[in-house]
Amino acid sequence: MVLVRATGIRGTVLAVATVLGLSLLPAGPARAGEPLPAPTPPTPTARTIDDVARGWRAAAPATLVVGRSVQGRPIVAHRQGPATAPYVLLVLGQMHGSEPRGRDVVRAMGALAPPAQLQVWTIPTMNPDGAARGRRTNARGVDLNRNFPYLWSSRYSSRALYYPGRASGTEPEVRAMVAFLDRLRPALIVSLHQHYTAVDLGTGKVRVWSLRLASAMRLRSVVVPCRSGPCSGTMTAWFNHGHPGSAVTVELPLTVSPALAAAYARSILRVGAMLVPPAA
Ligand SMILES: [Zn+2]
Repeated sequence: MVLVRATGIRGTVLAVATVLGLSLLPAGPARAGEPLPAPTPPTPTARTIDDVARGWRAAAPATLVVGRSVQGRPIVAHRQGPATAPYVLLVLGQMHGSEPRGRDVVRAMGALAPPAQLQVWTIPTMNPDGAARGRRTNARGVDLNRNFPYLWSSRYSSRALYYPGRASGTEPEVRAMVAFLDRLRPALIVSLHQHYTAVDLGTGKVRVWSLRLASAMRLRSVVVPCRSGPCSGTMTAWFNHGHPGSAVTVELPLTVSPALAAAYARSILRVGAMLVPPAA
């Protein structure tokens, strides 16, 4: 048994180290001819894809051109609320140029202040060329809601109104939205259409948000059929398949007065506020 005289915690540690034959004393300067000790490599920090999205959002300006249409018109996104707010709602006012009233809802949202911890992004239209002509498709005659890169199908190419393009993701408007949504990673997307007058129930994870939106907006909740046949290449299905957030289609009525648009905006924001967990 080795007896070591030690006082205090440091002394005790040194005493134990001495017994174990270890040296905890700091190494002296390297002598000439001795190799320097290798520097300790920094601990790698693993950033998740959500960390990257948070960083991207924090650096993004409040108004952003996310891409351009076939004819070069800008697709513009606006943010309300702080860029560092952790919860993200996105409202898309228009995908089909013949369905303009969602833009009124988006405009009305601009007058509302989001609650703490929520940032609200709005895109008035992702189809400015179709909007300029008042037609469903983009300038190349493609239904953008059949061109997203998930479950894309060419089956309905003969039906001009729902033409999905010659392949998935061919349209610049769709590519712009895919790139933007992959970076933004919103927790909830509300995609406004007309005029089936219902909230699409969707499946699985989105159903709770569909029901909340239907209740708040006083719309029925049903499975909205894709009139071209089985849904293929839609934005919501693409997003819901590959992202943790939920994307819900809301079909507004044919006629939406300014007062109703404002009421819808308030309702959507109320549902968006549910993304923020109640304070403990
Ligand atoms: Zn539509």
